[in-house]
Amino acid sequence: MSKYVIFLGAAGSGKGTQAQVLKTQLDLIHLSTGDLLRQAMKDKSDLGLKAQSFVDSGNLVPDDLIIELVKTQLLSSNALEHGFILDGFPRTLAQAEALDVMLSDLSISLSAVVLFDLTLEDTVDRIVGRRVCSHCQFVYHINSIGDSTDCSNCGSKDSLVHRPDDTKEKVMHRYDVFKSQTEPLINYYKHHLYTLDAAQSPNSITTELSANVF
Ligand code: ADP
Repeated sequence: MSKYVIFLGAAGSGKGTQAQVLKTQLDLIHLSTGDLLRQAMKDKSDLGLKAQSFVDSGNLVPDDLIIELVKTQLLSSNALEHGFILDGFPRTLAQAEALDVMLSDLSISLSAVVLFDLTLEDTVDRIVGRRVCSHCQFVYHINSIGDSTDCSNCGSKDSLVHRPDDTKEKVMHRYDVFKSQTEPLINYYKHHLYTLDAAQSPNSITTELSANVF
């Protein structure tokens, strides 16, 4: 049966890493608003130009822009048939309410909301060492890849980048934004919530999610 799952959690809590693995294993739609925004900024599309200053400063992009983006993506994907992981959306109560309307229009009921629980200290450590493939968005940490800038996932050469918003100061700011604007969603989704200790290894988390959520 298709699963319709939201991943909630601060930057660096491992949402994207798990989404990438589970998407391949289960043939799900992975919808990452962060990845979509970065692509829009790279393309210098209307959305990208409007979003740039918000993303650069670590603030949230205005709700109306994000809601429109997700609506378009959900309607143009096979979400109903395949199931989905929403990674990075919703991040505010207004986005959660708009998502309720979209899902009800599509006759989809949420399967679960997974909270990736991680301390600020771990968040900062992970983000400052994070490297991302600019072609396939695969995520790495310098502890495991050292100085290498080649992507073993898609085979691209010299494609691993340190995101400009992944500095210590900006991550601490994004953590504050998460606490003030996104944490209220924990209560909003209390009937669907599955809380995960995000400090575990990626493999343990995949095993736990496969056993309990997917
Ligand atoms: P993180 O590494 O913090 O999880 P993402 O890659 O998900 O970050 O998002 C990067 C940036 O994109 C955020 O700091 C924010 O500016 C913007 N963004 C992504 N998703 C949303 C959203 N649902 N609402 C508003 N802004 C968003």
